[in-house]
Amino acid sequence: AGTTPGGKVVLITGASSGIGEAAARRLAASGHRLFLGARRTGRVAAVAGEIEAAGGVAGHHVLDVTDRDSVAAFVEAARERYGRVDVLVNNAGIMPLSLLEALEVDAWDRMIDVNLRGVLYGIAAVLPLMREQGSGHVVNVASTSGHRVDPTAAVYSATKFAVRAVSEGLRQESRDVRVTVITPGLVSSELTGGITDRGVREAVEGLMEIAIPAAAVGEAIAYAVGQPGDVDVSEIVVRPTAQG
Ligand code: NDP
Repeated sequence: AGTTPGGKVVLITGASSGIGEAAARRLAASGHRLFLGARRTGRVAAVAGEIEAAGGVAGHHVLDVTDRDSVAAFVEAARERYGRVDVLVNNAGIMPLSLLEALEVDAWDRMIDVNLRGVLYGIAAVLPLMREQGSGHVVNVASTSGHRVDPTAAVYSATKFAVRAVSEGLRQESRDVRVTVITPGLVSSELTGGITDRGVREAVEGLMEIAIPAAAVGEAIAYAVGQPGDVDVSEIVVRPTAQG
């Protein structure tokens, strides 16, 4: 039943808040079986518990996407529970924006580690399994910042441009594994909380006045996942109507 529409095994990284959490709830409501990971295990356990209380199926596991062994253990725990892995949603991400001249080199490294290396570790953990299964689906959450660069977002954009490049490469190399880029614009979540520069955070929070709910992106992910196996939804851009 694992490959029947509505019954897929879906793994989501960064499912403790925002888009990952919204996607989990939306996919579970369609009958998919979820496996949720994040560093804040209490939060991710609560999301899984609420899904199960509502009649859905959801497991959870601690996950740090910057640690290759942690990503491998997360995927292995899902495979042990469900016997297969149909979809991996590489959603975990951070956005500590700053001007390059502020030399927040540690923040640059963290963005590269979470937003880019984390996606690559996810692909490394599921690709052999999906090739063996003869099917699978990798959904990578990029950003409109993966299409355009703005001041303070140079490194964040670099990671999201890279996620789109990796996704396109994987798509071209695959005949059995579907690849989707989800490209959100401004979305309400906890993402801006990671901006330490007060001026930058206030400016971004001002832009966020037009942000759309994370559920709007969960809907797009559910659409891509729900398509037949021979239909690849390569990219969906979801942004506020008022976003420039
Ligand atoms: P949130 O901050 O609400 O969620 C981010 C998630 O990533 C959390 O669940 C967090 O969990 C997880 N995460 C962060 N670091 C790690 C890590 N090292 N290992 C595992 N999980 C981690 O923000 P969003 O929901 O907005 O962000 C989700 C994705 O959407 C990101 O990739 C972001 O770049 C992208 N995006 C968001 C936009 C927006 O406007 N909100 C716009 C465009 C793209 P925990 O801390 O518990 O580990």
